[in-house]
Amino acid sequence: MPNNLPSPLCPVYKKCGGCQLQNMSYPDQLRYKQGRMIGLLGKYCRVSDIVGMEVPYHYRNKVQAAFGRDRRGIISGVYQSSSHRIVPVDNCLIEDEKADAVIVTVRKLMASFKLEPFNDNTLRGFMRHVLVKRSFSTGQLMVVLVTGTAVFPCKNDFIAALRRAHPEITTVVQNINDKFTNLVLGKRSIVLFGEGKIEDELLGCIFRISPKSFYQINPVQTEKLYSLAMDGLCLTGNETVLDAYCGTGTIGIVAAKRGAKKVIGVELNADAVQDAKENAALNNVRNIEFICDDASRFIMRLAAEKVRLDAVIMDPPRAGSTVEFMKAVIKLAPKRVVYVSCNPETLARDLNYFVKHGYKAVKITPVDMFPHTSHVEAVVQLQQLSSPRGE
Ligand code: SAH
Repeated sequence: MPNNLPSPLCPVYKKCGGCQLQNMSYPDQLRYKQGRMIGLLGKYCRVSDIVGMEVPYHYRNKVQAAFGRDRRGIISGVYQSSSHRIVPVDNCLIEDEKADAVIVTVRKLMASFKLEPFNDNTLRGFMRHVLVKRSFSTGQLMVVLVTGTAVFPCKNDFIAALRRAHPEITTVVQNINDKFTNLVLGKRSIVLFGEGKIEDELLGCIFRISPKSFYQINPVQTEKLYSLAMDGLCLTGNETVLDAYCGTGTIGIVAAKRGAKKVIGVELNADAVQDAKENAALNNVRNIEFICDDASRFIMRLAAEKVRLDAVIMDPPRAGSTVEFMKAVIKLAPKRVVYVSCNPETLARDLNYFVKHGYKAVKITPVDMFPHTSHVEAVVQLQQLSSPRGE
């Protein structure tokens, strides 16, 4: 699709609120994001050109919809921004098209199987959400039907009809969520068909995706993001690397395969650490270990023990890192720090700390992970100004 189509293209652009920048052409969006990054980060180092997408549509590999009713019958779609009303959506410009088609089929099958949408005010009804995850590299497709009760009327016929309509579905999971909550998934999952997980490949590594595991939603741009992070590490085969805020271990596993001598991953979420360990085993990567802990607390311990670290990768959540974390990095004095950020404001704040304490930014590259939205990701390479170890 050409990049300069009239905008906004989406009929529910305003009501949905998910694509804040759709009123701009894609080249204008990139210029806008570049300008914002220069404004915030330009004083630390020249900001390289933002890495955009060639085809900035249908990039989301994870799609979810809620169900409800209006005068015409069952509807599926997204919650209107800052409200609880469902905006019907059948085709979304940024979501995977196969995933969207599956959602429409689920809605139609609900009518033919007389399955009611779940009402989260009364906690009555059945089908609450559907979550679809697709691996762009293997084509595997996972459908998670989130239901308000465990009892699933006509379960086998429903699954058979869904698979007939979409033979590419490789696994179907039922997840039960019967609580008053904004969270999509409940605690309990039952695998109804297939293995209950799918696998995706990024930069030659395989990653397992389960209904709950965190995984980057734009794999095309993730490969570019991770490649920039690898460039920033300048691995030669001798380095010990800390992958802080490592999630399911993706960046660390790529680094461990690409020349790091040893990688230590630290992550607060215990489920993500479990996934990270499985991902390492899946890739036969043995020079990596994962620790479930608060990143700041863990790195302070490494600093107290004077552990040798050659490089740190950090990919904190939107709130950014902490002074305690950065103080410990400075004490450990790795030659290189690669900061992967999903929030330019907290990135600017944290860079300010690093440059005041012996590091300089040598490369800043914005990456457009979420075209049409206002989010912008960046990879920053930091280098130690002088090495206290005399290296
Ligand atoms: N690097 C990963 C995930 C980054 S998202 C990837 O590319 O896929 C940020 C991660 O930081 C999340 O997994 C979140 O659970 C984790 N996190 C949040 N606060 C944390 C803390 N205080 N200590 C360690 N990890 C934390």
